[in-house]
Amino acid sequence: MILVVGGAGYIGSHTVKNMIANGYDVVVADNLSTGHKEAVLTADFELADLMDKDSLDKIFKKYKIDSVIHFAAFASVAESVKNPSKYYNNNVVGTLNLLNVMLDNNVKNIVFSSTAAVFGNPEYTPIDENHNTNPINPYGQSKLMIEKIFKDYRNAYGLNYIALRYFNASGCSLDGSLGESHNPETHLIPLVLKAIKGENDSIKIFGTDYDTPDGTCIRDFIHVEDLAEAHRLAIEKIADFSGVINLGTNKGTSVREIVKISEDITGKKCPVVLEGRRPGDPGILYTSNQKALDVLGWKPKLNMETIIKTAWDWELNKKY
Ligand code: UDP
Repeated sequence: MILVVGGAGYIGSHTVKNMIANGYDVVVADNLSTGHKEAVLTADFELADLMDKDSLDKIFKKYKIDSVIHFAAFASVAESVKNPSKYYNNNVVGTLNLLNVMLDNNVKNIVFSSTAAVFGNPEYTPIDENHNTNPINPYGQSKLMIEKIFKDYRNAYGLNYIALRYFNASGCSLDGSLGESHNPETHLIPLVLKAIKGENDSIKIFGTDYDTPDGTCIRDFIHVEDLAEAHRLAIEKIADFSGVINLGTNKGTSVREIVKISEDITGKKCPVVLEGRRPGDPGILYTSNQKALDVLGWKPKLNMETIIKTAWDWELNKKY
């Protein structure tokens, strides 16, 4: 059985759906602090917090767990700067608790949600796994610390780990059953669509003076169903490979391009307000996905049009 910690969240819930569709038995543990119970479609569910080792231990005693996929983390860059203690406690101490309970119960396989934020300001693009790691905020630091802990736990205790560093997770499930529902929402695509829908007055574009063709930031948007698939493949490879893998599309799209594609797909105008740069935003971030192909046999299948279409469907027909 696979334990998915944080399986009620955005990427976690899509991964649970993929794993179940591929015949895995899955149990979800989540404290529902940011996740949604409605997003846990068919898996067993346990309400549990990473800060509570006893309740984690009970889950390992109740189910026969082979491997863990761990998504449970706070993930707002801006909040992590204001409140680093929340990030280091939940993300680092929480993961240590999970790892230690896993080892106590002789479970040695973990697939982990890491992030492009471990790199900091890129020295070259596309970024690859050999790029230096130099995070510029506590969120990225917390994820990098865990990657380092994995390495030491591998050497000392034989932990098998794959840390997947996502670029910009986006889009919603193709069948409309799952989607992105953050409160508050801070991500570009849902905010563009909310402005188009009229739920928000406008989208603020943060920075138009970057050294990019149209002056706005360039990001690597990857469909959440492609990310989910990468987690399943990682579980299948966990006995043969331990290390870090970047997940993205090899291609960048600018903020203005996202606005334009969204207008084309919805057939509606997006009210735009130009603002200054958001602190901590590098101009260009996209990744090579060669290692993901070599190690996992993974290639993204869903394009930008599908990302915006599925996100728009979700925006119009949200289930939670
Ligand atoms: N962005 C923007 N307006 C917004 C939200 C985001 O212009 O209301 C820009 C942001 O500056 C970045 C890109 O969109 O260049 C993606 O931001 P997001 O927060 O979605 O993801 P991040 O790249 O920070 O993980």
